[in-house]
Amino acid sequence: MTEPKKKKKKKPIQKTRTPMPEQEASVRVGNFDEVPLGYTPEQAKQEAARCSQCKKPLCVTGCPVEVDIPGFLKLICEGDFAGAARRIKSTNALPAVCGRVCPQEDQCESKCILAKKFESVAIGRLERFAADYERNNNVVELAEKAPPNGKRVAIVGSGPAGLTAAGDLVLLGYDVTVFEVFHKPGGVLMYGIPEFRLPKEIVEAEVDYLIRLGVKLELNVVVGKSVTIDELLGERGYSAVFVGVGAGLPVFLGLPGEDLGGVYSASEYLTRSNLMKAYLFPAYDTPIVRGRGVTVIGGGNVAMDSARTALRLGAKTVTIVYRRSREELPARAEEIDHAEHEGVVFRMLTAPLAFEGNEQGMVQKMKCLSMELGEPDDSGRRRPVPIEGSEFDIDTDLVILAVGSGANPLLTKSTPGLTLNKWGYIKTLEHGRTDKAGVWAGGDIVTGSATVIDAMGAGKEAAADIHRSLMG
Ligand code: FAD
Ligand code: SF4
Repeated sequence: MTEPKKKKKKKPIQKTRTPMPEQEASVRVGNFDEVPLGYTPEQAKQEAARCSQCKKPLCVTGCPVEVDIPGFLKLICEGDFAGAARRIKSTNALPAVCGRVCPQEDQCESKCILAKKFESVAIGRLERFAADYERNNNVVELAEKAPPNGKRVAIVGSGPAGLTAAGDLVLLGYDVTVFEVFHKPGGVLMYGIPEFRLPKEIVEAEVDYLIRLGVKLELNVVVGKSVTIDELLGERGYSAVFVGVGAGLPVFLGLPGEDLGGVYSASEYLTRSNLMKAYLFPAYDTPIVRGRGVTVIGGGNVAMDSARTALRLGAKTVTIVYRRSREELPARAEEIDHAEHEGVVFRMLTAPLAFEGNEQGMVQKMKCLSMELGEPDDSGRRRPVPIEGSEFDIDTDLVILAVGSGANPLLTKSTPGLTLNKWGYIKTLEHGRTDKAGVWAGGDIVTGSATVIDAMGAGKEAAADIHRSLMG
């Protein structure tokens, strides 16, 4: 008699994620180095082994650029880290960036089957691990390119939307030039998101990869002023233009005293610090006000980045003032936690009324009003309602306004034929096509301020459509 086959015992699933080491809060507030330190190869294999290799992987449906998530996780389990990086790169040109700043908790990770009972696989951390392994070990292989097809495409703006469109088009055989107004490419990745969340050398390496693929860069060019889109499509000989100029126009509150010294828009504050390296002044030319009592108005990622930058620039106290409650804070949970651990104070249900300055015209005080939550508004969130007679003051010598951003009209105003919506963003038809022949658009200039991966998804979709249109 043959013995009944013994069922192989399944290894129990590790319910929680493998923790990622990070710099201690008390140490990191004194430097601009990256906070999370990344997985070791052993930690990465351990975490990737949590993936169930689902037949119908829902996580992929949560990724706007459809990264083959189970595929790259399997390669990590097998120890083929460079292969994992190549697998991600076949659909995502900026994996080291996405692994750091994508809101994975709302995207791929929120769809992971494990999330129903346990913690989801840490997809973002593993994406970062694979991309870092490839870069740090110099095993980056250039993707295969189609032969040149003789057509030229201009990309306006070198943020994630423009870079993704450029990367996809160059692989399809186009002669691609990216025009950028700043002296460094990368868009918000370079001048918005601080070094301690996204080191600039990583953005530089990802841009460098595109240059090695053949993408050309023209920096310090204001499209709409130095050259128009009609000139690019006309005498400059481009067959198509992709517009990815972002939504970098700062929004102000229109409150009394907003023009005092020491009141910055987050956009100016972060650009001075990130792009102009103001934190190294006077070694670098650009100065920055280093407040001791800093107030940041707003509750999104931009507010968290500003607050944490102010701490690293030597502030004694940094207070985030937000008019709704903590539950409504729009920033990523991880960013809120990091800010809190570093000592940022959260003053919820508070709205600014006015700013007052000293004789030198520098801000000294912010007048505020307490709020309570009323009925839900159009967004479904409970509306903040002022509490009568609740005025109070906050002493402050630096205020950073992180209350949103808008569309910069410079390019859109100088381009006849583009249709804009009521907020000044470019209206597109399907696949990023605009009303103007030969012009596509995508990223924040179409959607308003969104996410890196959404901008990349838009760049990808437009690139595919430009190819269909130019090649029939
Ligand atoms: P951008 O990144 O804004 O790039 C546009 C580029 O076009 C810029 O380089 C600009 O200089 C250039 N340009 C503009 N006008 C012209 C012109 N006329 N001629 C030539 N060039 C021009 N998203 C996340 O997913 N995760 C995060 O953690 C996150 N944190 C953020 C933190 C901050 C401080 C900010 C500001 C944004 C953050 N975002 C985050 C949002 C995200 O960065 C943006 O949604 C994304 O960068 C949009 O990409 P884009 O390519 O459309 O535009
Ligand atoms: Fe998830 Fe972003 Fe990676 Fe896509 S690119 S798999 S959304 S982390």
